[in-house]
Order: sequence, then structure tokens, then C-alpha cells
Amino acid sequence: MTCSQTSLKPLNTFGLSVSAKSIVYASDTETLIDSWQDHQGKPWLLMGGGSNMLFLDDFDGTVVINQLKGISVEQTQDNWLIHCAAGENWHDFVQFTIKEDMPGLENLALIPGTVGSAPIQNIGAYGVELKDVCDYVDILDLTQNKLVRLTHTECLFGYRESIFKHRYQHGYVITAVGFRLPKCWQPNFSYGPLKAVKETLTTPKSIFDKVCEIRRSKLPDPAKMGNAGSFFKNPIISTQAAEAIKQHYPDAPFYPQNSDQVKIAAGWLIEQAGLKGYQAHGAGVHPQQALVLVNLGEAQPADVVSMAKHVRDTVHQKFSIWLEPEVRFIGTKGEVNAVDTLS
Ligand SMILES: Cc1cc2nc3c(=O)[nH]c(=O)nc-3n(C[C@H](O)[C@H](O)[C@H](O)COP(=O)(O)OP(=O)(O)OC[C@H]3O[C@@H](n4cnc5c(N)ncnc54)[C@H](O)[C@@H]3O)c2cc1C
Repeated sequence: MTCSQTSLKPLNTFGLSVSAKSIVYASDTETLIDSWQDHQGKPWLLMGGGSNMLFLDDFDGTVVINQLKGISVEQTQDNWLIHCAAGENWHDFVQFTIKEDMPGLENLALIPGTVGSAPIQNIGAYGVELKDVCDYVDILDLTQNKLVRLTHTECLFGYRESIFKHRYQHGYVITAVGFRLPKCWQPNFSYGPLKAVKETLTTPKSIFDKVCEIRRSKLPDPAKMGNAGSFFKNPIISTQAAEAIKQHYPDAPFYPQNSDQVKIAAGWLIEQAGLKGYQAHGAGVHPQQALVLVNLGEAQPADVVSMAKHVRDTVHQKFSIWLEPEVRFIGTKGEVNAVDTLS
């Protein structure tokens, strides 16, 4: 269905007032293929829930909203095998698996967006990442009009990384994701706040509820205050650089990656740079969660970009670390390099 209503404001969680030339709602693969063939070299952008995007301007082409639906379940002796269409809402899908007694996704509750976007940045929260539960990803090659199934290994998952940000970024649509959830359930309490109350968390549903409760108390609801979740990735730095920081900040939150590298919490860096709660021109750093940049109501794309630049520059001045955006930056013709935009 092509829509003459071209405002993208209700379709991006930052709530920015931008528009597209046309918006297509695709609930089948034929519509996806038709809109791709019709675009004839003009800008074409696929969206799920618009929760990981920063529009820099009006989009000078067609935006296609993925609305492929459907869930099917099979089982082996040891696993639940779930095939989920890309346009399903991620949180609703997690809720469905918990209700149907197929645990394993409870730590990933309440992440906005669609199932199809989840593999792209290998979504993660509370000690679990999509890669831990993903069996395969189905993609539609729009130029060849062909469906391809990529195995878990072929997806090349990493921290906020996958092959869908590289080789399979342009001209491909994720149409479905396959999940393998072991029937022998093991709760994951690696995340501190869950560990602290683990005696009370005896069922997948209780973990699901706790994760929702913590997230609701910590993160701004995009329906009330525009945002795209964590704006920056947690930087990975050398152990040597980490040692230097530790000398001044013994309690700095580090997470070892390998013998040479550690991850440091970007939110902590922003807070230490004195920016928690900072506001300017309708954009801000969230007062409870410094990693989240917010639209206070009437921010323009340029206001959010200025805020992101200010945060990045200030953190660099203090710690000599350049933060890299996790959010995807979308210009008039398509995605642009976020680091270049802020440099
Ligand atoms: C309040 C809040 C909390 C969040 N918390 C977390 C968190 O805990 N962990 C986490 O990892 N992320 C988190 N996020 C980020 C976001 O929810 C995820 O990145 C999510 O997977 C994005 O899904 P989406 O459908 O909204 O993607 P969109 O923003 O619509 O799209 C993101 C990118 O994927 C592309 N894309 C979308 N659908 C497809 C498809 N079917 N095939 C190919 N490409 C496609 C788009 O072109 C775009 O480049 C949070 C965001 C918010 C607003």
C-alpha cells in the first residue's frame, strides 16, 4: 500500500518532523520487490520501527515500512525452533514466546523495533545478545529476486555488528529470523541488577517482568520523549588506555574483551564529562541515562546532531576516546557515515 501521508514523525522514535516523498507499507514480498523495481535509482529506504535512526533531513525518496507478519513453531527433542517474519514487533514476539512457555528471550524484553532489524546490530541487553538465540536469517535479494538463508555463522555477529551492516546492507531485505531456544532453560543473571535479586527470579516470566520494570524505570519512553535508545556504542579500548583511566577513576566500569582490549561504558564517560542532563536547543542528554540523547519536544535534526557532536567532543577532550554512534544516520538520499557527520 502506498500512502500519500508522507510525514515520518510518527514513524521515527526520535519524533523528528521529517518527511519522505512517498511511504510504502509492505506486508508481502511482492510489494517489497515492486517498490524496489519502481524506485529506478531514486533514494529507497527500508524501515522497521524507526527506533535506531536519526533522520538528518527530509528523505528525498521512498520509505518502505516492513510489515511482513507470521510466526511458526516447530520442536525437536531439545529445542524450540521458531520462524518469525521480519515485520513482527520485537517485544510482542518476546512476550509471545514467554506466554507459550518457550523461554530464552526474556532478557531481551521491551527493546523497541521489529524482529527483522534485530540481527542487524545484534541487539543485546542484560547479558544476552541476539546471536545467542539466532539460528538463521532469511534475506530477499531484491536485484536477483531471490530468497537466501544465512546460517548463524554466516551472519558474522559481533558487538552491535553483523554482515547486514556490510555485504548485505544495500539491495537486501531481511524477511524472517529463525530462533533456536533450548528446552533446558538456563537463566542468565550475568547483568548485576538481575543477579542482585536472582532468588526472586525463578521463572522466565519473572525475569521478563523484572527486565521490563528496570527498563521502564531507567529509559525514557519514546512515546513521551523522543529518543533512539543508546546513542553511542560502548567503546573498546586498549588495556593500557584502561589502566591510565583506572589510575584516576578506580571504579570506572570496564568489561574485559580479550587480553589486549576492554569495553568501557559510554554512559559513564558522558556522565564523568559532566553532561548528564545537559540541554540545548530542544535536545538533551537524558538526566537518568546519559547514553540516551533525547528530543525534548521540538528539536530539529540539526539540534540532535549538535548535541551528539558536543557530547563526542567533550568526552574526547576529557578521556581521549572518540565515541562512535550506534544510531544510524539517514540523510536525504540514504544512510550517511555517522562519524563523518559528527567530525
Ligand atoms: C528506548 C529504546 C531502547 C533501546 N534499547 C536497546 C537495547 O537494549 N539493545 C539494543 O541492541 N538496541 C536498543 N535500542 C535500539 C533499537 O531498538 C534496535 O536497534 C532495534 O533493533 C531497531 O529496530 P527497528 O525495527 O526500529 O529498526 P529501524 O530503526 O527501523 O532500522 C534500523 C536499520 O535497519 C534497517 N532495516 C530495518 N528493517 C530491515 C530489514 N527487514 N531488512 C534490512 N534492513 C532493515 C534500516 O534501514 C536501518 O538502517 C533501543 C531503542 C530505543 C528507542
